[in-house]
Amino acid sequence: MLGKVEVYTPRSLREALTELSHADEDVKIIAGGTDLIIQLKDRLRHASRLINIYGLDELRYIRMDDGYVKIGALTTYTDIIRSPITTRHAPLLVESSRTIGGVQMQNRGTIGGNFGNASPAADSLPPLYALDAVVTLASLSGSREVPVEEFMLGPRKTVLRADEIITEVKFRAMDDSQKGVFLKLGLRESNAISVVSVAIWGSIAGSTFEEVRIALGAVAPTVVRSRSAEHMLVGKPWSDELFKKAAHEASKSAKPISDIRGSAEYRLEMVKSLVYQGLWEIREKVKND
Ligand SMILES: Cc1cc2nc3c(=O)[nH]c(=O)nc-3n(C[C@H](O)[C@H](O)[C@H](O)COP(=O)(O)OP(=O)(O)OC[C@H]3O[C@@H](n4cnc5c(N)ncnc54)[C@H](O)[C@@H]3O)c2cc1C
Repeated sequence: MLGKVEVYTPRSLREALTELSHADEDVKIIAGGTDLIIQLKDRLRHASRLINIYGLDELRYIRMDDGYVKIGALTTYTDIIRSPITTRHAPLLVESSRTIGGVQMQNRGTIGGNFGNASPAADSLPPLYALDAVVTLASLSGSREVPVEEFMLGPRKTVLRADEIITEVKFRAMDDSQKGVFLKLGLRESNAISVVSVAIWGSIAGSTFEEVRIALGAVAPTVVRSRSAEHMLVGKPWSDELFKKAAHEASKSAKPISDIRGSAEYRLEMVKSLVYQGLWEIREKVKND
């Protein structure tokens, strides 16, 4: 049972921010509701009033601006999958969107909601860490930009203030010399929470990485970058041995827990496997160019 909850539907972002500016902690933002409604029903969270922003079309867009891909917070996974901009300039984000829930969740769930829910297993986050994205948070007093890596502090904990709304995420558009992959291990084909996920972005010259970013999901209280593995890969000629070493190194950045989906030991092994597979997939993408 949801209990008695008032719903306020603003007609603009400004109206939503005004409402939020004098709200107490019992007031929550709702977008697609695919996380929040379940949490309210299960009494994991409480709200007496919801600010329903789902109809604010000003927050639903994917556009290119001065070399950046900009995505409004209310953009759904289906929007991301269908957009020629993300398909060309952020293929790893498209790959991750395809793995989120099933078609219903992809149609309804928003990228802003995935951030707002702040789960270490949120599937849009590893690609956005690998793309070095920046999130925009707006309040009545103005907006601020936060690097995606600084946004989430732990499970359900973020730097978002009570008077702020997530409005946009942006990152540099990928070009043809850059490749990316997203790999997810779940317990079934669809509607599966990640047991482990890995996103890799690389800027490539010949058969080496000029720059590479590796992000791991569901293996620590937040998504994590594996900088020591990235460092190991930069400037070195690709080989099976190098990929194995880097995959092993990446697993050192993971601090997994054991839960019903898998033990900590299993997750560590799977990080090695997915990073190794991801590096090989990038190599294949370069070969097939
Ligand atoms: C069956 C099922 C399968 C799922 N599978 C996956 C999966 O495979 N991978 C995955 O990552 N997730 C999955 N999810 C979780 C969920 O669908 C996603 O996290 C989705 O992106 C949430 O978006 P939403 O718009 O529905 O958020 P909501 O439920 O509306 O909100 C989630 C949280 O974010 C806050 N919030 C939302 N938008 C904003 C904003 N713009 N500014 C500030 N705060 C905001 C809300 O207050 C709330 O705390 C699944 C959920 C279900 C029910």
